[in-house]
Amino acid sequence: MKLTNTTVLGTGVLGSQILFQTAYHGLPVIGYDISDAALQLAAARLDSLVDEYASFFGDPAKAQAARASIQLTSDMAYAVGDADLVIEAVPEDLKIKEETYQKLSSFAPQRTIFATNSSTLLPSDISPFTGRPAQFLALHYANNIWKNNTGEVMGTADTSSEAYEAVVEFAESTGLVPIRVLKEQPGYVLNSLLVPFLESASHLLVNEVADASTIDTTWKLGTGAPYGPFEIYDIVGLNTAYHISSHGDETSKKFAELLKTQYIDQGKLGVATGEGFYKY
Ligand code: NAD
Repeated sequence: MKLTNTTVLGTGVLGSQILFQTAYHGLPVIGYDISDAALQLAAARLDSLVDEYASFFGDPAKAQAARASIQLTSDMAYAVGDADLVIEAVPEDLKIKEETYQKLSSFAPQRTIFATNSSTLLPSDISPFTGRPAQFLALHYANNIWKNNTGEVMGTADTSSEAYEAVVEFAESTGLVPIRVLKEQPGYVLNSLLVPFLESASHLLVNEVADASTIDTTWKLGTGAPYGPFEIYDIVGLNTAYHISSHGDETSKKFAELLKTQYIDQGKLGVATGEGFYKY
């Protein structure tokens, strides 16, 4: 089953990247969002991705052609009416996901496969709203997908092998390295490794075992890894780190407080603002 016509629901940070990545690999793609205001923001995001793709792949004409091929609409019936695959990237809120899938399932053709990009919900949390559990699974992208090009493919116990394989093939054909996640796992593979790693580093810092640059140097020299945990915090962004840590245990909450008072309150959010644990 070859998936060609693609629709992306939600055109925010990840949705706009998924649209661009899919268009850049030559597939017809439509972006849906809830309002004209949201679509204007989407257009601006897509415009800025032209430069990212042009400088990363060195082919400005191809990046411009990809941008020009992307359709945007706030008409759900039009957006999904001829879709082989719908990728959902609406906000990480179960209620919004539920409403979105209920609407989607009433408009999409029977053949359409639905894939969620949710980072923290399990596909089985969403599956009951889809009306087609055998054709529903997760395709999880990483931020900055043109260079961080993993595509974690994770189904539920109800997902058919045909749908799973079709999405693996779609991932490959749109420039991703498909990661076959063989059973449901909160955090997929990447975040199951990364989140505890970053948390351990934050605890060493908060407990004054070593400073950030010593922890980073130890990790890099000891393993040959290119980045230490605090360099990764700067890449992820300290606001995101703050939100995750403030829901953790006592030591994680102390780390959240440190992030807020020593960095975030001074506008130091990491690489994006030119300074976090390090200067860029
Ligand atoms: P975002 O807030 O940047 O974008 C969400 C978009 O959905 C917005 O354009 C918003 O207008 C739109 N939206 C709001 N309500 C809607 C509705 N009812 N129907 C359709 N669209 C609606 O969010 P994001 O960071 O792009 O995250 C989207 C999804 O992608 C989440 O499930 C998140 O877990 C996942 N994700 C995010 C990242 C990341 O780094 N930001 C990485 C991987 C996966």
